[in-house]
Amino acid sequence: MKVAKLICFCVSLLLFSSCRGPVTITVRGEVPPPPPAPPPSVCHMCGGARTVACGVCKGRGSVEMVTYCSACRGSGNVACNQCGGRGSIACATCRGAGTIVEFDFGRKVNVKVQCRDCAGRGNFPCTTCRGSGHFTCRSCGGRGRFSQVARCTHCGNGRVTCPQCRGTGR
Ligand SMILES: [Zn+2]
Ligand SMILES: [Zn+2]
Ligand SMILES: [Zn+2]
Ligand SMILES: [Zn+2]
Ligand SMILES: [Zn+2]
Repeated sequence: MKVAKLICFCVSLLLFSSCRGPVTITVRGEVPPPPPAPPPSVCHMCGGARTVACGVCKGRGSVEMVTYCSACRGSGNVACNQCGGRGSIACATCRGAGTIVEFDFGRKVNVKVQCRDCAGRGNFPCTTCRGSGHFTCRSCGGRGRFSQVARCTHCGNGRVTCPQCRGTGR
């Protein structure tokens, strides 16, 4: 071991002594290559665009304001007052039964006969609403709601400053 160390020492001495001249200069002058320049960091949220689509209007720049029609409660139809929305009016003669009970000449046997006024149907179709039971709401034209397009107040033209990079793009 001692011998080996001694040899090592001698070798290093030799190397040291030999490290002179142009060889040494070239070794010392060899500067390590500079690390590759990091790629320009770009905001991953906006991709460097500095703005992102507005979340409120989904980038459209305008929002649709919807209000429901109070006259028809949003259904688009109003019930017929005449028939109460049923579309038919009960026959007054038979009270909607379609049959009337007649006494057979004083005998105590009830005989049901078809109502002549309504031909046994028990009701008449409502003439006011033509049997549908409702009318199209006049206030909203049957749509049930009103919509109007308004400018989005959260953005300009659908874009907002990127919250990730605060508009720097990086
Ligand atoms: Zn918006
Ligand atoms: Zn309506
Ligand atoms: Zn009847
Ligand atoms: Zn009606
Ligand atoms: Zn960004």
